[in-house]
Amino acid sequence: MLPNVTYSTAQRGGCGDAKHDAQPISSVHAGSRRQRRARGPVGPIMTWRPRSGGTRFFFPDLDEVTRDWILAEWEEEERVAPFRGAQLTTRGRSAFGTAMRSAIASGDEQSLFVDLASSDYWQSSGIRPDRYGRPQFYTINPEASARQLAITEFNTAYVHGLTRRLLEEDVAEVAVYRAAPAFVLRGECLEHEGSQYPTLLIYEGHRARYHPVPRPGALSVPVGPNCHHSVRRPG
Ligand SMILES: [Zn+2]
Repeated sequence: MLPNVTYSTAQRGGCGDAKHDAQPISSVHAGSRRQRRARGPVGPIMTWRPRSGGTRFFFPDLDEVTRDWILAEWEEEERVAPFRGAQLTTRGRSAFGTAMRSAIASGDEQSLFVDLASSDYWQSSGIRPDRYGRPQFYTINPEASARQLAITEFNTAYVHGLTRRLLEEDVAEVAVYRAAPAFVLRGECLEHEGSQYPTLLIYEGHRARYHPVPRPGALSVPVGPNCHHSVRRPG
């Protein structure tokens, strides 16, 4: 179990744009000290929240019709081969489904982030290869992990649902655009930014590199966890 942690904007990092970065929650939102003590160590870690208003990601085609397609595609994936972030706990894996349905119905990547930012949804540590390929323990930061999963998963679902919709509408190509600022651009992101691709190629590239059967080198949007690109109708 992770301890309760209060994050400051500086500790948290972010996209560097003050408008986009989280604001500390006032004592009204965080509750009194007595209330916080009463909640005990299992209480939510969210003692701050993203600034309300404005969307970190720009999704110009996110209307009710697109949301219906996103949900249809996402539910079909849930039925066939559900995807869950590797760092989630059992409880987090369960909560993820509810959080995604809520975000798709009426939210966005920010609301998904808020719903996932609970310490008991995240494992305390994980193992990943170092640069020599040797397994190495690392500590999981639940806030950073919730943010990254929320951004990638909402965008991934959005691209899948939107490309399905555009296929139905016989829109042959989609344009890749930068939906949000990023600290560090992946090299391959610079290649695809501003390009147009066949709608079917992007639709079929859904999670192609990692789930359920990895196809290394396949084109996906987003291309990976740090990709802030999405697709939209061209023109
Ligand atoms: Zn990208």
